[in-house]
Amino acid sequence: MPDRAKIEKSVRQKSLEKVAGKIAVCQKCRLSKTRDKTVPGEGKVGAGYFVIGQGPGANEDKTGRPFIGRAGKLLTELLALAGIDRENDTFITSIVKCLPTPPINRKPKPDEISACHGYLACQMELVGAKRIILLGDMAFKKFFPKDKFSDWRGKWREKEGKRYFISYHPAAGIRFVKFKKILETDFVNLYLKGRSSV
Ligand code: SF4
Repeated sequence: MPDRAKIEKSVRQKSLEKVAGKIAVCQKCRLSKTRDKTVPGEGKVGAGYFVIGQGPGANEDKTGRPFIGRAGKLLTELLALAGIDRENDTFITSIVKCLPTPPINRKPKPDEISACHGYLACQMELVGAKRIILLGDMAFKKFFPKDKFSDWRGKWREKEGKRYFISYHPAAGIRFVKFKKILETDFVNLYLKGRSSV
């Protein structure tokens, strides 16, 4: 890689870390009052895939890391089914960076999603991935508010130069075998259909 490209990548990585620093002290919405740790996301500038979930759960809130625990393990397996190396080729985050509560693990509210939007937009810009994986209805609605999740689940769609793949949240696959099977089929399809250009 030419030096200039390396320098640019390192500058973007530092900017990504600065975004995480801002999230760590953010008080833009009510979730700042009840969180333990913020969960900005993990991954590298230049990753091929940007993965977006609903919000941190209790394990993530304790550790500050995204998608750990059983749902996280399933996500790693699903990504592997799609030929994607979680460690080296993804940036993984959520539409809100603090645990939605009370009650614990509730869906984030529209004003919380909107307050957190700037961080997500910055992260997407800095990572630069052209392929986005949306996990669950809440992540889908953030990008396609007028459309039905059920019409697009298991499919790729394009918007403004990026490709979006839509599936259930892995937590659904932990709760119900039926959803786990659908998730597995979806991620195999992601592999089979997702290799075209963009
Ligand atoms: Fe800030 Fe987002 Fe956490 Fe709300 S959810 S306090 S906007 S980081």
